[in-house]
Amino acid sequence: VGAWRWELLRDGTGRFPPGVLVCAGVPDAEAAPALAGGVDADGLISFPYDCVLARNSEEVVLADTGAGGRLEGALADAGATADDVTTVVLTHLHAGHIGGLVVDGAPRFPNARHVVPAVEWSFWTGGAAVGRVPDAMLAATEHALPPLSRAGLVELVDDAAQVAPGLRLLPAPGHSPGQVAVELGGGDGLLFLADAVIHPLHFARLDRGTAADTDRRQMRATRERLLARAAAEGRRVAASHLWASGRVEREGLAFRFVPDG
Ligand SMILES: [Zn+2]
Repeated sequence: VGAWRWELLRDGTGRFPPGVLVCAGVPDAEAAPALAGGVDADGLISFPYDCVLARNSEEVVLADTGAGGRLEGALADAGATADDVTTVVLTHLHAGHIGGLVVDGAPRFPNARHVVPAVEWSFWTGGAAVGRVPDAMLAATEHALPPLSRAGLVELVDDAAQVAPGLRLLPAPGHSPGQVAVELGGGDGLLFLADAVIHPLHFARLDRGTAADTDRRQMRATRERLLARAAAEGRRVAASHLWASGRVEREGLAFRFVPDG
């Protein structure tokens, strides 16, 4: 089936207060020095909604679907259509990752199996999320997931599942209970970290997180494990909101993100 080729697709961009996405629970005065230069005149941080398109001679895989922006345009720019997609992998079920799944109440990727970590699916659909997450996030799942279920497109998998040859999931819980990372190819391949890190600061400050994290300690352990692996292998990494792919280096007791280019 040949080697995997991958690229980042940009669904859109957004702006959020640092306290929502980068350093929840940290006073602004304490967070500001580390974010210097990264905050605009309104005190907000801009970030992209990126997805991964991975292709070989048999499969067209899309990891995450953005927030409901220009995903189809980004696919077209890459020479693909929604109908071409054979597998959608959902790293977790937050609104900025499932926004492109449904259009006019119908699945946008009708020919794709939709691979979802079983723990993540049951958290959002089994009642456990109620009261633990913002209402808007729950509403996003209630909009996006039922059409996929009705169409029989959902494939629930283990958090370390082999999705296809050379494409496997790695457990990445903490940001959300069933989040997974996606590993593509061998040591020269990609590790897609999804929201295990959201900002370059998170490579150095493993304890800093978002207001949406369900378990901060678990998230920290996930980061340490995944970043250590990427640093040891010299593997390329990408994430949903980092602007660029890059590599991970050890720095002190933590890590540093070295963007490509
Ligand atoms: Zn998320």
